[in-house]
Amino acid sequence: MSSLKTLVQKFKPETTHTVGDGFRVFNFFPGGMPWQTEVSPFILLDYHPPFEYAPSDVPRGVGAHPHKGFETVTLLFSGEVQHRDSAGNHGELSAGEVQWMTAGAGVLHEEKHGAAFSKQGGILHLIQLWVNLPAKFKNTPPSYQTLTEKEMPVIELPSNSGTVKLVAGKYADYSGPAKTFTPIVLAEVKLRAEATVTFPMEEGYTALVLVISGQLMEGLDSGYMGRFSQTGKDLHLEAVTDAQVIILGGEPIQEPMVAYGPFVMNSRQEILQAYTDLQSGKFGVL
Ligand code: MN
Repeated sequence: MSSLKTLVQKFKPETTHTVGDGFRVFNFFPGGMPWQTEVSPFILLDYHPPFEYAPSDVPRGVGAHPHKGFETVTLLFSGEVQHRDSAGNHGELSAGEVQWMTAGAGVLHEEKHGAAFSKQGGILHLIQLWVNLPAKFKNTPPSYQTLTEKEMPVIELPSNSGTVKLVAGKYADYSGPAKTFTPIVLAEVKLRAEATVTFPMEEGYTALVLVISGQLMEGLDSGYMGRFSQTGKDLHLEAVTDAQVIILGGEPIQEPMVAYGPFVMNSRQEILQAYTDLQSGKFGVL
């Protein structure tokens, strides 16, 4: 029992802000939670709760902008999102799918509501997560993974007590399909009232739980994020009511981090270089 992680902090943002004209999000970190070492390898988490958009002929969203030195991960629960980038990747994400973009050496991309979704209007519900890259992978070529429902295992918990949908990392004998540069656990867990789950992690791993709906023990109600201790191995959760949660875990990246705007590097010098590279066109054209 002593090897379990313990709840250190819980946090619920008070207000949303809008990214571009299409993503109405609560920022959990870096704004509200202690950041860097405590949440490493994660850098940013924006949660877009279910919100209904009116029909629009022009898809809402965020126009072309750069990223370098990390990965952006979008988990879509409801609605449609389209994406295109200067590496030539483009795609539409449907509800239940995950987009894992490695910005790496640098990319320009745009993120918009899907075309058909925009015309009809409807409810958008998603998470955007930024995952850091260690120094040796910051200049990896940009790449893009679309993880479909078919690719992500959904594991039934014993006694009909819930499910684990794996995006990255391991649970029981299953592995999530996302290819990551450092060890990462990312899963959507649904628990019945009073059900429990013990999620395997490693000693030293960061562990965060975002409660999408329902209520867990220790006052982790809908809309809260819990930060658990890096000490201790596994993550044990107990549901009070039926609950849907996102589990994030991973090995912290033990390097200096300098984050500025859309760039996350190891030094101020590298941030300045990224702006120089952007202005000289090294991120390509979109
Ligand atoms: Mn972006």
